[in-house]
Amino acid sequence: MPESTNTKSAYSKELWENMFVRYFQDEIYKLAKSFPLNRYLIILYTFLEDGWSDDAVKFFINYPEIALKDANDTLHTLTLPIKFPDEMKERWYSESGIKISGYPAIPIENLRSRHFNTFVSVTGTIIERSNIHHIASVVAYECQRCAHRTNVPQDITGEPEKEPDECESDLCGRKGSFKMIQNESEWADVRKIRIIGEFPAGLDAADYELDAILVGDVDCPQTGERITASGVLKNIQIINKKVKTVDFSKLLEINNIEKMLDSEIISTGLSKSQWNRIRVLREIIRELQDELKEPAPLKDITEKALEAGMKEDDIKDILNKLKQACEIIEVANGKFRAVYN
Ligand SMILES: [Zn+2]
Repeated sequence: MPESTNTKSAYSKELWENMFVRYFQDEIYKLAKSFPLNRYLIILYTFLEDGWSDDAVKFFINYPEIALKDANDTLHTLTLPIKFPDEMKERWYSESGIKISGYPAIPIENLRSRHFNTFVSVTGTIIERSNIHHIASVVAYECQRCAHRTNVPQDITGEPEKEPDECESDLCGRKGSFKMIQNESEWADVRKIRIIGEFPAGLDAADYELDAILVGDVDCPQTGERITASGVLKNIQIINKKVKTVDFSKLLEINNIEKMLDSEIISTGLSKSQWNRIRVLREIIRELQDELKEPAPLKDITEKALEAGMKEDDIKDILNKLKQACEIIEVANGKFRAVYN
């Protein structure tokens, strides 16, 4: 496995580029054409397992911040068949990206320090949901002596506002004072939520709770909804009145949050591979429907599912599960329509 951050990044960019070119070229073109209506390429975790070596998958799990940033950077450097107007090009760079779906979930109460800074997925119910905050990700400071501007990147997950150590102007170099210039600073949209996992009656709920943060894409299901959230587990130092303490608190920086399928809630006894098959079949139906611009015929669904390695009996069973979960609706003539929520 590569050692330095630079070689790590070169390694992961190559992994993504191969994956995008091999499996996702059409998807990415579709995404670009429908942008900004659609902004994210959703990649099933099983694709990483199928398309990469074990080492590459381990790299993704252990260095998710580098891997996810590289995924977005790589997406943004691909040549697209359409030309965005300049303003839209900027939005494509800052608002489109990769989300990973279907990573095996861990019970919240089992999260430990070894999971810090790795990719994790949890399921639970949203019990608190903040409104949208706007936090400066890069603050432009103006030196009050010489008016020189210094840009200071901020830690948006919790550290107090960082001022420059000194004015960056060679002629000045004074240690303040500085004034924030709002319209030259960069801003991020942020929402915080609290998730609670399943917990046995009579036990303390606190062990089953996890705080999470959405940065950039703040779309989020409502309080009370059952969700699966995946992302990078952080350990955040608690700050009291701008003074750092020795207390830390877990925070999930969300890459992907999805409402749980009803079928997932009903049948939690399903194995990981059954889940993967359900997700793959749902994806097949959605794709066929997008392609044909009408409900997908059973014949085509079966054909693609067999190609994806499913057995004929499995396909029927999974179609039923998706129907029960209201993920698909059977319309006349043995055709299936995917329901998007
Ligand atoms: Zn200055």
